[in-house]
Amino acid sequence: MSSPYISVELRRLVIDRADSLCEYCLFPGTDGLMFQVDHIISVKHGGSTTADNLCYACIFCNLQKGSDLGSIN
Ligand SMILES: [Zn+2]
Repeated sequence: MSSPYISVELRRLVIDRADSLCEYCLFPGTDGLMFQVDHIISVKHGGSTTADNLCYACIFCNLQKGSDLGSIN
């Protein structure tokens, strides 16, 4: 199983790639709102800690998604 640990470099890459916007709702990540680098496919579902499985997400989108593969809004 892949480690859930996301290195500082990988975190930086994901944030830069997302242009500091939540990749789900496009909310800007510069407003002091809590943002997290999220596993698109969670580690518990076999997702890997690689750039193509990570996205930048605001706390609302991340909480709504949880560790499931996806959710319906
Ligand atoms: Zn969001």
